Amino acid sequence: MNIGVIGGGQLGRMLALSGIPLGATFTFLDPSSDACAGATGELIVAPYDDAAGLKKLADVSDVITYEFENVPSATAEVLSKTVPVWPPAGALAVMQDRAREKELFAEVGMPAAAYREVDSDHALRDASEELGFPLVVKTRSEGYDGKGQMVVRDTPGIKGVVDKLGANLIAEEFVEFDREISVIAARTEAGDIAVYPLSENHHREGILRASFSLPDESGWPVAAEAKEYVTRVLEHLNYVGVLAIEMFEKDGKLFGNEIAPRVHNSGHWTIEGAVTSQFENHLRAITGRPLGSSEAIGYAGMVNLIGAIPEPIDVLSIPGAQLHLYGKEPRPGRKVGHITLLAFTREGLEVGLGRLAGVAGVTLPEERPGHK
Ligand code: AMP
Repeated sequence: MNIGVIGGGQLGRMLALSGIPLGATFTFLDPSSDACAGATGELIVAPYDDAAGLKKLADVSDVITYEFENVPSATAEVLSKTVPVWPPAGALAVMQDRAREKELFAEVGMPAAAYREVDSDHALRDASEELGFPLVVKTRSEGYDGKGQMVVRDTPGIKGVVDKLGANLIAEEFVEFDREISVIAARTEAGDIAVYPLSENHHREGILRASFSLPDESGWPVAAEAKEYVTRVLEHLNYVGVLAIEMFEKDGKLFGNEIAPRVHNSGHWTIEGAVTSQFENHLRAITGRPLGSSEAIGYAGMVNLIGAIPEPIDVLSIPGAQLHLYGKEPRPGRKVGHITLLAFTREGLEVGLGRLAGVAGVTLPEERPGHK
């Protein structure tokens, strides 16, 4: 079976690394001739909306998926007339627009920060009168890793926001969260669902720095609630594949923030830290195979390598540490790999983190994982 993937970044590469043992082969479409997934399959070099490139991809693929959400949903729609495309184009369209995403949260009964759609300084001022400061102003589409958003703290701060971000915005309440978490789940066309233990996520400058699995769920009702919400979203969208919901936790309450219609950076720990990784379960889902167990194995921590690659020997000499390099040239702010630490106890994970803290080129979040 050949799987076509729109996008040839590290998520595509990790999909292939999990699918090759299942007998799958891969073809990627990416505008860049050095896209890092090219090491794991054929690469068609073409823009994402290039009709000839997409036709070539459809001709060689039994099923098509994507590894980032900014694929034009019209492209997915057109492709799906000749070859199955999962996740469905309709889900893609919702997740490309933060306002539609907010409507989806409301439809499934998931709380989210209050928001207003805004298109001018005047509308932003109105929103600030209703919602108060600070406000987080975000572009409705194409924002990622903290790009396309600004925090506005007072009335003078409103000036220039629309000039900078454009006029297609939402303004939402700033949530003073206790922590950021995400829930990742897979669904098959037959409706079977596997939900992973939640991840605790640490961002800096809008970029995910580290994620920790949260396998201890007893006495923590938030975990069951998050799993219920993700299940409702999957069913509501008739979704096939893996999906991630990023959320804020505040005083034991959840606020939905963002949904990604794809495998997610906060789920990289599942490669070693779950019975079946998010990548394999995505492939199982889109190829009509049964899902594997999403149960956690011990305690996992994942640290992104951003802009620098450590000396491999320094990482590999730490018991329980696994190094994943994406074959990308380091540049400031660029995700070039990750390290997963796996331990059978929380204390063991702490010991591993202590050792990882001393490795040049690795930056750990300031706060330690806040497992309950
Ligand atoms: P996003 O692109 O929506 O995932 O936002 C990137 C990061 O900005 C999040 O992971 C949060 O750390 C922060 N952020 C986004 N929205 C809010 C909000 N309403 N309140 C507080 N922090 C936010």
